[in-house]
Amino acid sequence: MSSNIHRDSPGYFAELILPLPIAKLLTYGIPLNLVDIVKQGSRVIVSLGKKKILTGIVNKIHQRAPNHPAKNIIDVLDEEPIVNTYQLALFHWIAQYYMCSVGDVVKAALPSGFKLSSQSKIYLHPAFEEDSIPLLENEQLIVATLKNGKPLSYQQIEQLIGQKEAYKQLKKLIHKEIIILVEELQEKYAPKKEKQIALNKNFVDNTAELQALFEKLEKKPKQLDVLLQYMALVSTNLPEQTQSYFIAKKQLLEKDVSSAALQKLIQQDILIEKAVIISRLAQLKAVATPHTTLSPAQTQALLSIENHFKTKNTALLHGITGSGKTEIYVRLIQSVLEQDGQVLYLLPEIGLATQIVQRLNKIFGNKMGVYHSKYASNERVEIWNNVLQNNVQLVIGARSALFLPFDRLQLIIVDEEHETAYKQLDAIPRYHARDAALMLATFHQAKVLLGSATPAIETYYNAQQGKYGLVKLTERFNQTPLPRIELVNLRTEQQRKGIQGEFTSILLQKLESILQQQEQAIIFQNRRGYASYLLCQTCAEVPTCQQCSVSLTYHQFRDALVCHYCGFHCKVPPLCPVCDAPTLKNVGFGTEKIEETLQHFFPNKRVQRMDLDTTRRKHSYEQIIDNLESGQTDILVGTQMITKGLDFGQVSLVGVLDVDRLLYFPDFRANERCFQLITQVSGRAGRRGKQGQVLIQTTNPQLPILQDIINYDYEQMYTQELGERQKFRYPPYIRLIKITCQHTNERLVKECAQVLAGYLCKLVSEDNILGPQAPLVAKVRNQYRIDTWVKLAKSSEPVLLAIKQQIQQATKSLTSEKQFRQIRIIFDVDPI
Ligand code: ADP
Ligand code: ZN
Repeated sequence: MSSNIHRDSPGYFAELILPLPIAKLLTYGIPLNLVDIVKQGSRVIVSLGKKKILTGIVNKIHQRAPNHPAKNIIDVLDEEPIVNTYQLALFHWIAQYYMCSVGDVVKAALPSGFKLSSQSKIYLHPAFEEDSIPLLENEQLIVATLKNGKPLSYQQIEQLIGQKEAYKQLKKLIHKEIIILVEELQEKYAPKKEKQIALNKNFVDNTAELQALFEKLEKKPKQLDVLLQYMALVSTNLPEQTQSYFIAKKQLLEKDVSSAALQKLIQQDILIEKAVIISRLAQLKAVATPHTTLSPAQTQALLSIENHFKTKNTALLHGITGSGKTEIYVRLIQSVLEQDGQVLYLLPEIGLATQIVQRLNKIFGNKMGVYHSKYASNERVEIWNNVLQNNVQLVIGARSALFLPFDRLQLIIVDEEHETAYKQLDAIPRYHARDAALMLATFHQAKVLLGSATPAIETYYNAQQGKYGLVKLTERFNQTPLPRIELVNLRTEQQRKGIQGEFTSILLQKLESILQQQEQAIIFQNRRGYASYLLCQTCAEVPTCQQCSVSLTYHQFRDALVCHYCGFHCKVPPLCPVCDAPTLKNVGFGTEKIEETLQHFFPNKRVQRMDLDTTRRKHSYEQIIDNLESGQTDILVGTQMITKGLDFGQVSLVGVLDVDRLLYFPDFRANERCFQLITQVSGRAGRRGKQGQVLIQTTNPQLPILQDIINYDYEQMYTQELGERQKFRYPPYIRLIKITCQHTNERLVKECAQVLAGYLCKLVSEDNILGPQAPLVAKVRNQYRIDTWVKLAKSSEPVLLAIKQQIQQATKSLTSEKQFRQIRIIFDVDPI
């Protein structure tokens, strides 16, 4: 790819967003032959440096020649733009607000299948069928090489067919769906295949031939049976898929036909067999769901939301658990779809929302798509294109669904808006999907409905200030009362010797009595593993991770010590590594130990555990839910995973073993979090018809926050917390930015953070700076971290933006100093 200077350019230039962490947008010339094709939002291929090939998005087209020679664009990937102006506006807003480059945003926003670059890995498309299209010479070469199994890198393709041809060829192959691009090798992806059967076309189109075939098979009753069953299946399938005579082989075999006879028919070319990739996004057809009528309270809430939407862009639906918020969402979605608009339904963790996805899928069928950043690249591209081509109008997704190419968005629903999973914590851009959704909605002039039983303090504050309409649902659907919550005092129980293996006798008695009535229980313990850590009884040594400053957690099923931060694991040492005494003892307890204890207390009951360790395998999460729903589990032990969107009929008791740990966390949001978590867990009890009960074990039942929890007094909790936030200057009264310096050299990080803090003090005054200080876990994977927090007084967005830019400028000049060049500086705006 020659870097031809724009001699043949008619004077048009494209400002490009390239997937790079640089703040500036680069300008390339548009060659004559591409002038009519390149549009804002198109993907173009450009070279960067000598060898690098990148895909960029056209941000703007203009005629102002840059004052340096510009390279020309090599090619355009799309006939029509794949990114629209709403998306561009969102990308820029996120970059500015969250202090990163717009290239970083685009990198995160586009599925990797869209990004042809020198880093791309090239795979054979899972749906590619050889012989279906004639291949040209170069194409054959590439396909043949890919068929050997391993993916190819861009360079390997260059070697195969020459540098000049490489990107052109790849572009064509992508369009023909012969290959797909994957960004990283780890991105696993397993296409789902299905074998299908059809009658050879010769018979389909020719009745005489078919007649002859039947006669021939008279003497082969088993084969005749296969054929007749096939015919029967096709005729029932036909109305749905008129042009295809293929049916699933599985379907045929389920009719108890002889598989040997079927094989014979295939061998004789009477039946044709082929393996087909079925899209994992294959949508259910909408099925007739029983018509629901809204309760008077729901009707009232719906009306009230619609009313607020007349004057406000955002409404908060504060509805207690089980009040039937979803049913209200459904009505709102239906009315937008009737007007041919689009709806985005955001969920904090889509993997944990199978029940809701299934419920909506039944109602909205193939008008609905599900989007998740964990989906394989080709599946994400598929949904993207479906939105682009208007094949789906409703998208259910986790936070990355915000980036889809909506162009008629009318409504965004943010379900469980208080959930921290909406914030991207571990990668750039560190955006909050709820807040970005509010922004996206203003671009589209769409409405946003935030829903929660326990709204975030910031959200409720906005509602109180009149920024959002506030709508309340204070009764459960069917009027089932909320569960009765009681506190059990661990101290007095201890004095009475009423504690056995983390359980107070009160909790054990309750468990016993509901289990006797064949009801189910949930036990919540927000820590996985067996023991929290090991402690040497002789020298007080606690084995810690070598790469992270945390103690190792004991996992019994692996018989190993595991680091929950970096995944490091090792065998349990028989002797203390420091004093050699055989006195290492388990301290603290996690879900694994609770499971064991419960099984010991109730040997005839079925105990199951739900945490990160038991849900790693595909579908294991669904399996655990199914078991509980179908009554095959009596007690479910779990971490906060069990609080997410589950709706069970028979759970009548919820036990919380150790609430204190949630409260003594050094975080200004600890009380709020605890309230949310315990209210959500409690909500799992007694949801259909019968009042449930909740028992919380604590050493300090007098704490006001626990009193608020048992009284379901959100307002009281809110007022109390708001007072604290105002007094100590925390959100919503100010904005926070966390700036982390990170490096393997502890001394260097500290030094850098000190200098940075000095800069910051000048910028915003000393009493607006917290730190620099090491976070709770100061070292992860050998990287030392020091945090500095900046408090920004409330002010207009342009003012805040200007300060952010000054901060960025300051850190930039800091890291351009030689000694600090290697330090990584991470911005986290509105950290949670
Ligand atoms: P929330 O999301 O507010 O916690 P859900 O929407 O899950 O509550 O509703 C709780 C239960 O009530 C669900 O089982 C749901 O099917 C049922 N439900 C809610 N509204 C209706 C309705 N209008 N008709 C029938 N069932 C309803
Ligand atoms: Zn570690």
